[in-house]
Amino acid sequence: MKRTGHALVILGLTILTQLGGLAWGLALFTRWRWRAFPLIYLAIWVVAQLLAPLAGRQPLPCTGAPLRMQSIFYCAALRNFAVPELADLAHDAAARVADKHPGTITLALDGGFPIPGLPMLPHLSHADGRKLDFALFYKNSTGDYLPGKTRAPLGYFAFETLDHPQCPAAFPTLRWDFRWMQAIYPDRPIDDRRTKALGQALLDDPRLGKMLLEPALAERLGLADPKLRFQGCRAARHDDHFHVQL
Ligand SMILES: [Zn+2]
Repeated sequence: MKRTGHALVILGLTILTQLGGLAWGLALFTRWRWRAFPLIYLAIWVVAQLLAPLAGRQPLPCTGAPLRMQSIFYCAALRNFAVPELADLAHDAAARVADKHPGTITLALDGGFPIPGLPMLPHLSHADGRKLDFALFYKNSTGDYLPGKTRAPLGYFAFETLDHPQCPAAFPTLRWDFRWMQAIYPDRPIDDRRTKALGQALLDDPRLGKMLLEPALAERLGLADPKLRFQGCRAARHDDHFHVQL
């Protein structure tokens, strides 16, 4: 691989995982070159788990219940970190939903990286460990709750209110619809009761500063609160996940 190729890989891995670019760079100094990457990445991953608390970050659980990351991808890519206060808020909200609806697994999506400061693309925020996204809950076609399952593979981009246009077409915008992608997802209706229970548990928590959710979805779920906001017409849609921040 040429120098530019390696530079692009380092950039891509840094954007995706924060520390993956470092692992690739270090691997280039070894005898095995980039083939040493998996081992070095694994070592850095383990060190990140151990040292993140020193940087004021706590990993959210990758397995188990009632709270876990939606996909192992988030854990592998080091995107499951949050400040302890936010991690506690997530655990408490998940416990409250599971109290109300036993067996419910609350799924977290992007949180933050282990080291503070670097932005986590494609999010506009999520750089300070004080932001976390949650997946919605889904049912199968006969109306049974699907524990641990979402519509989209990583929980994002399966939009619920595309038929409620509330924003004029604008440019530039991050309000992508990905209409072509919607047909690929399995037909799983939202579990309104569980999704509302999670939204309410998060909103009721005094540590929560703000929640972003598309107004049409909030209305359908019966969620209303001064902390519940619309992200605006140029920011990414929020009818596929909850965004919360301290
Ligand atoms: Zn978010």
